[in-house]
Amino acid sequence: MNIDFSDIEYLENPDEITLKADFQQFLLSLDVPTIIDITGKDPKRCRVIVTLLHGNEPSGLIAIHRWLTSNGELPSPETNLRFIICSVEAANATPLLSHRFLEKGLDINRCFGNSQNHGYYKRAKAIENAINEVSPEVVVDLHNTSGSGPAFAVSPLLSTRGLSLTSFFCDAIILSGLELGALMEQDFNCPTITIECGGANDEQAHEVAFEGIHQLASCPSIDNFHQEKSVEIVYKPLRLELKPHKSLSYSNHNEGNNGVTLLSKIEQFNFGGAHKGQMLGWLDEHGLDNLQLINENQENVISDYFTVRDNQLVCATNLRIFMATPSFEIAQNDCLFYIVNLTGSSSI
Ligand SMILES: [Zn+2]
Repeated sequence: MNIDFSDIEYLENPDEITLKADFQQFLLSLDVPTIIDITGKDPKRCRVIVTLLHGNEPSGLIAIHRWLTSNGELPSPETNLRFIICSVEAANATPLLSHRFLEKGLDINRCFGNSQNHGYYKRAKAIENAINEVSPEVVVDLHNTSGSGPAFAVSPLLSTRGLSLTSFFCDAIILSGLELGALMEQDFNCPTITIECGGANDEQAHEVAFEGIHQLASCPSIDNFHQEKSVEIVYKPLRLELKPHKSLSYSNHNEGNNGVTLLSKIEQFNFGGAHKGQMLGWLDEHGLDNLQLINENQENVISDYFTVRDNQLVCATNLRIFMATPSFEIAQNDCLFYIVNLTGSSSI
């Protein structure tokens, strides 16, 4: 497939025919990253909602389509809204909505803020420009996790407006110190948050996205918004990674595999975390040396958080676990999951 990485399609206040009967047909009618501009009651202000940076994370698209079509006519938001539907080609590759990015492509959410200006880096810049040109008051980037779990927000910065914005979608925000080249790390002169709505196949995740868009669209002033839900702040989680060339498998029992074996149901720990002494899987004779947990000072602090009991991988402290996934590919190429020491989080 030849991709024009600078191409972006614009739709302004699209009609019923353009929006099609359902989100799948609408998605199939798109060819390239597409911007949908909706005029609000106060057209001098704009809020941006991004989705489908990852082609297999449909909650944002489903919710946007539902919000645009559920009343038989376009809703009238308090401010202008700009929706940006990004990785259309990956999302449209068969089977629909199952490819994070195209084969031989790059993960565009690792390409932002980069000095390179070709391919996916160029597209990332085009998306950044499309956000900057409307001087937004907030930017929300909607994602799904590959495993099931409750919704949470992620942001590199904390602000009152960012917390109110989070409360439209969920009740926890992770402050991330990671620099991965993600959209939310870019400076748009306004709060920029990622929402992990929950599992890609979970109806609840689509609902989280819809409710959040609905509340954001109908809020006249985020700064004056009286936040009803408290939002828990979780500080700087660490990524539990497999060391290079170590192997990974999943099982319900110890099979004596090389490298690391995680419990098949590892994603259940996304709900409620894991206590000190909890067994998460098994390790070969190299023990914790199969894994790394790099802190801000670039030190491997794996043994502060995990220990080995016989050949079991065991939590050495009470942990909160995020984004544990049964997807072998993501666990091996990205990380097994994110953790935070439970003493490091607070609630406001
Ligand atoms: Zn994603």
